[in-house]
Amino acid sequence: MSTRDRLRIAMQKSGRLTEPAQDLLTRCGLSFRQSRDKLFCFGEGEPVDLLLVRDDDIPGLIAQGVCDLGIVGRNVLSEFQLTAPPEQAELSELRTLGFGRCRLSIAVPQELNYQGPETLQGLSIATSYPGLVGDWLQRRQIQAKVITLAGSVEIAPRLGTADAICDLVQSGGTLVANQLRETDILLESEAVLAGPKQLPADERGDMLELLLKRLDGVIQVRESRLLLLQTSRQHLEQVTRLLPGGPQPILLGIAGQPDQVLLQALCAGEVTWRELEDIKKAGAREMLVLPVEKMLA
Ligand code: ATP
Ligand code: MG
Repeated sequence: MSTRDRLRIAMQKSGRLTEPAQDLLTRCGLSFRQSRDKLFCFGEGEPVDLLLVRDDDIPGLIAQGVCDLGIVGRNVLSEFQLTAPPEQAELSELRTLGFGRCRLSIAVPQELNYQGPETLQGLSIATSYPGLVGDWLQRRQIQAKVITLAGSVEIAPRLGTADAICDLVQSGGTLVANQLRETDILLESEAVLAGPKQLPADERGDMLELLLKRLDGVIQVRESRLLLLQTSRQHLEQVTRLLPGGPQPILLGIAGQPDQVLLQALCAGEVTWRELEDIKKAGAREMLVLPVEKMLA
């Protein structure tokens, strides 16, 4: 691995992951000067630079040591791990990032009498993920022909080039539009922070550790809500029992109303309307749910 004193992160140049990845890095306190070719962005402040590339190239760039980290879909990372030469495939998921959620699924024409994966025996499957599909078929001892296509996989059955497909699905709308039916999920995917199994031992290692800590803070904050409410001491136990995520609430007295308290609780995750309504029924009033901007314990 080459030695460098600046950390280099690869992310998608333009696509579904670009905006949320950029937003995440900004929240981690990183900012970049955009260069004219927009491929390499020099980091201002912290010694962290950005490389903007096609998402498919990200695992390879990390494996070759060109970049130290990458923000990429688990689908792309897993495909690389299954198809790259073993000495290159030594990458790991350092963090899951909570955006770019989708699944890699088998889909078949609606009129096909699908009775489970065995139905695929002897058929052909079009996909951009031959590694993941091949692995899935092999585990089930199914012999099917895997046809690798770079894009427009969903029209292959209608064109007669394949009997079934395996592609990324989010809402399922594209499948329905192409008269396809989702049958099996091969992989649940989201964006991940990918890195080498062996982290760099020079200054980059320290920066990486710092970045991971900030990232954990950002992810925790993003999923936290501050719940404020008023209740009576008599209802306190019941109300506290219903707080989502089981937080330890802080209680404040209210001047002139000795039997009333103001409760403040940091909830891990969303607080739904249904949960609020149940807490209200248990005796709470004046409820407020607030997003958390920064947290430092
Ligand atoms: P590039 O030009 O960088 O190769 P791309 O066309 O391969 O772009 P996008 O369509 O931008 O990539 O998708 C990037 C990633 O977003 C996917 O690899 C996947 O992890 C995630 N993703 C989330 N939802 C979907 C979806 N409905 N279809 C495709 N990808 C999705
Ligand atoms: Mg791509």
